[in-house]
Amino acid sequence: MSYTSFNPVPRTLMGPGPSDISPRVLAALSRPTIGHLDPQFITMMDEVKSLLQYAFQTKNELTIPVSAPGSAGMETCFANLVEPGDTVIVCQNGVFGSRMAENVTRCGGKLVLVEDEWGEAVDAEKLREVLASNPEASIVAFVHAETSTGVESDVKALCSIADEFGCLTIVDAVTSLGGIELRVDDWGIDAIYSGTQKCLSAPPGISPVSFNEKAIKKITSRKVPVQSWFLDLNLVMGYWGGGAKRAYHHTAPINALYALHESLVLLQDEGLESAWARHAKHHNALRVGLEALGLQFVVEESLRLPQLNAVALPDGVDEAAVRGALLNKYNLEIGAGLGKFAGNLWRIGLMGYAANEANVRLCVSALDAEIGGKGLGTVAVNNYYQG
Ligand SMILES: *Cc1c(COP(=O)(O)O)cnc(C)c1O
Repeated sequence: MSYTSFNPVPRTLMGPGPSDISPRVLAALSRPTIGHLDPQFITMMDEVKSLLQYAFQTKNELTIPVSAPGSAGMETCFANLVEPGDTVIVCQNGVFGSRMAENVTRCGGKLVLVEDEWGEAVDAEKLREVLASNPEASIVAFVHAETSTGVESDVKALCSIADEFGCLTIVDAVTSLGGIELRVDDWGIDAIYSGTQKCLSAPPGISPVSFNEKAIKKITSRKVPVQSWFLDLNLVMGYWGGGAKRAYHHTAPINALYALHESLVLLQDEGLESAWARHAKHHNALRVGLEALGLQFVVEESLRLPQLNAVALPDGVDEAAVRGALLNKYNLEIGAGLGKFAGNLWRIGLMGYAANEANVRLCVSALDAEIGGKGLGTVAVNNYYQG
């Protein structure tokens, strides 16, 4: 058997992640691998930490990239903060909330589930009632940007209610970080995790996390050790927090971290608020185009995520066939529905580097051609960008 090098045809990535990666970030990936305890690498690690503090808007010392994808960031939060017997409230309004719930039970926690409809935000008043009737609860967890439905929940309001009841908060910011407003310190978030392949537009496989002093106190005063050796922050802190005394824990994904570093430098140079504004602007262009094609958003306007646009399928359209045509004819990937929404909608991502005018034009004109839009979407997008 003899294989040759793998050279994928490039695609435009407008699904739920991964998103398009800037050539600058891809170039960073291919720089020479150096040792993970090399002084140069340690300097870069310190820069990654401080760039992540900026992206998260936090001063938390424990702000690090976990060497595994977003799901591992989720497990890092639950495995470290939940002790057997702890009562944990999970607010669930989509696929990722149900994964949080699964984490709680696997950590031996007592799960209290607060369910909201798919396509709706997490209901703060419902959370308040559940907290009032479960005074033993010590943690509240929810998703900021639910990628399965395209809905944003009000992190600030939910954290403030959790705090009234003395609970720590765990927030999923995998899809929100870098795409919409997120302020870890101002909003009182205790533990948060994200991913690199959504609005940060770095390669998948790393999960930035951040923990404040309250959360660290809970972790360092655990009665039982964290079940996972790899994710135990008590050990990971010796590597990422050790300064010059950094001790070997595991081999960091060195080149992937170069790429994350470069994507965070891009974010810093653009400015966080400008990045949020760019996502909003191109979302509006996409909306105008899709609506001109007769497509309708699934989520109420005030709750929509600019970076994840969930649109209902037009009557008589074969969703998989259209997605296939976009991929094969235009090298354009958009997302299908997930979970309960499978087969019912498309999820069109505008994440990170992919949130740009050329992508909006490509997506709307391709859909226009494939669903018989008579050029109306293309004209509307043109008008938006020219107006
Ligand atoms: C993508 C995603 C995850 C999981 O991230 P992976 O990197 O795929 O493990 C978790 N939560 C949300 C909201 C996501 O969108």
